[in-house]
Amino acid sequence: MSIKIIALGSGVCANGCAPGPRRFPPGFLIDYNQQLLLMDASEGIRYRIEDAGYDYGLLQEVFLSHVHPDHAAIAQLLQAKLCRALWGEPKAGVEMMNVYLHEASVQGFEQSWAWHHPEAGEKMNHFPDKFNFNIQPIRGSWEKEVFSGLTIKAFGVYHGFGQHPALGFRIQTKEGVIVYTGDTGIVDSLFENVEKADLLIADCGTRIGREETGGYGHMGPGQCGLLAYRGQVKELWLTHYVGFDAPAAMESEARKSGFAGELKVATDGLVWERS
Ligand SMILES: [Zn+2]
Ligand SMILES: [Zn+2]
Repeated sequence: MSIKIIALGSGVCANGCAPGPRRFPPGFLIDYNQQLLLMDASEGIRYRIEDAGYDYGLLQEVFLSHVHPDHAAIAQLLQAKLCRALWGEPKAGVEMMNVYLHEASVQGFEQSWAWHHPEAGEKMNHFPDKFNFNIQPIRGSWEKEVFSGLTIKAFGVYHGFGQHPALGFRIQTKEGVIVYTGDTGIVDSLFENVEKADLLIADCGTRIGREETGGYGHMGPGQCGLLAYRGQVKELWLTHYVGFDAPAAMESEARKSGFAGELKVATDGLVWERS
């Protein structure tokens, strides 16, 4: 039994703003005993799944933290899976995928899918004998054992001035607990859900010194560090940062809380695994 998580996107919605290595928009792939789960599906995620050595055709479960475009290029992924199935690449898992997203965002997905595929008419799955996907509405406190031995729990967070339905995820296995905050300002639900996580992947979209909680809804490195410290987290990844602050400055800011665990300013390709 083993769990592995790969950062496929530690970047943000724009590139070319700051120095440093290329980092794509968000996406985190979990391999749990060769079953694949993706958290956030940014543009071109299927290429990065391939680059990490996996077949995106076998991807079964996709969780969207929220539907800002840098997290939810889901129509492209569905189209790619559909076309592969149509073109005769049936492998186990190619024919079906579950997409979980906040219940308040489901209607918008249905409208955008109809915009992309008016030829499908009323049916979202317009080649049901080839490929099907299920849109699964979820909300805070929703919980499910997605794979035998892996349970994922959603919790509500604060984003887009509190106007954007957004979720964080806590993934529990015997091998370890991973929490992904999604995009969020610092709110109580985070403290309630990060407790004793082995790995916390925290949105660090706010620059040092601009960590006002009443803002748009991202955290700065000091807040991520405080969250990890208070939650007795073992390892913290800072992700979704623009890159204006030097990684060393981000780390030292995150340490000011007293957090003494492992700390990484994430870059694409970063891996965490346990067995
Ligand atoms: Zn966002
Ligand atoms: Zn974002």
